[in-house]
Amino acid sequence: MTTAADEPGHVAILGAGPIGLDAALAFLDNGWSATVYESAATVAANVTSWGHIRLFTPWSMNVSTRMLARLQTAGVAPPGPAEYCPTGGELAEQLLGPLAELPELAAIIRSRTRVLAIARAGLLKHEEIGSPQRGSRRFRLLVSDPHGVERVEHADLALDCTGSYGQSNVVGDGGIPAPGELGVADRITYQIPDVGREGGKWAGRRVLLVGAGKSAQTAARDLAELVDSRPSTRVVWAVRAADPDWGEVPDDPLPQRQELVEMSQRLHASAVPGMQVRTGVVIDALRESDDGVVVALRSITGDVEEIVVDHIIALTGFLGDTSLYRQLQVHECYATAAPMNLSAALLAAAGDGPADCLAQASHGVDVLRVPEPNFFVLGMKSYGRNSNFLLRVGYEQVDEVAGAYSRPG
Ligand SMILES: Cc1cc2nc3c(=O)[nH]c(=O)nc-3n(C[C@H](O)[C@H](O)[C@H](O)COP(=O)(O)OP(=O)(O)OC[C@H]3O[C@@H](n4cnc5c(N)ncnc54)[C@H](O)[C@@H]3O)c2cc1C
Repeated sequence: MTTAADEPGHVAILGAGPIGLDAALAFLDNGWSATVYESAATVAANVTSWGHIRLFTPWSMNVSTRMLARLQTAGVAPPGPAEYCPTGGELAEQLLGPLAELPELAAIIRSRTRVLAIARAGLLKHEEIGSPQRGSRRFRLLVSDPHGVERVEHADLALDCTGSYGQSNVVGDGGIPAPGELGVADRITYQIPDVGREGGKWAGRRVLLVGAGKSAQTAARDLAELVDSRPSTRVVWAVRAADPDWGEVPDDPLPQRQELVEMSQRLHASAVPGMQVRTGVVIDALRESDDGVVVALRSITGDVEEIVVDHIIALTGFLGDTSLYRQLQVHECYATAAPMNLSAALLAAAGDGPADCLAQASHGVDVLRVPEPNFFVLGMKSYGRNSNFLLRVGYEQVDEVAGAYSRPG
């Protein structure tokens, strides 16, 4: 049987998050046929898994003009109001779900279909190095269908929009697993817990929270509230920096983000019973004992202290799965693991200090290109270790790539 993917002018979109869905709309507009591969049962799976978290950015920044136009044409009410910051759940239910139900998208989204790997038909990674000749061979995608059956599908253009949430970093010093970490994995949560809803799981327990970014700050805020309402709960918040700046942005225009920074500063400065903030420490080792998980905390001076906890919440960042395109010629930054051109542009734009994510903009289609012709990493994954990605930037990336491929051929 011949499918759209067998015809020339076909784009494979990996991941049905906000950026993958926006890309699908853009390429359909350009006359391409498309398949959107989504590993989960429904679209926006990553957004849904942090559905209890409120975005810092309002609807006006979270919806592309293309999405709005398409919803309007279909007679679907646009999400809003424009200045309201939705939760991840609201983003999924009020925007991404309705988009995925539009007939043109519903027809091309393949849920429960994971892309396992992508390569060029008949070419290995080291062949035709940096040559446009690679573009004359179609992409070969190894996919696993809803029944777990593996098959190969083809495309002329491929967009990796698989995000990074769920691909968590580990807790050990230097970014490698702490000795014993893998052995106590069932006691570690690597995603932002919904403490309000799962209170029973955490209340009255001894919890170690690791990390200092916005995800860890969000968990710290929720755990502090739990400690307040259930004083038998004990939380140790381990932070690597001796004097963390909590990512503060001067005169922050995003009030939700500023509130988290202030809350972290307060917790750090004042002794809240039941909630200890330990700065300048790393996780040296973990081991199971009869009483719980024994955690060795090592300070900057080299002193090691052991504490015992019931659970660990590890929020030390996320990094997309780059093994997917291992057989393609993708030049990765040695520092951020993002595609090199984009990473260099982001590092240059940041200058000496960390840039505010609101100051981020897309840098044009050539910055998004990698040596592999007609292959792009878009969305959250394109930023590698840089956590400043914004939906608005992803929609701009889609505009730029779609602008360069206005017609198949
Ligand atoms: C807690 C949190 C809060 C955030 N808050 C904001 C905010 O306030 N404002 C803002 O602009 N941005 C925010 N972001 C950043 C960013 O906008 C989001 O992460 C956004 O979801 C990124 O969209 P994406 O489409 O690139 O990736 P994702 O939303 O992660 O979507 C990727 C999709 O690909 C699928 N997938 C993964 N692997 C495969 C595979 N091998 N095969 C097929 N499918 C696959 C996943 O199931 C998922 O559906 C936040 C991020 C997090 C984690």
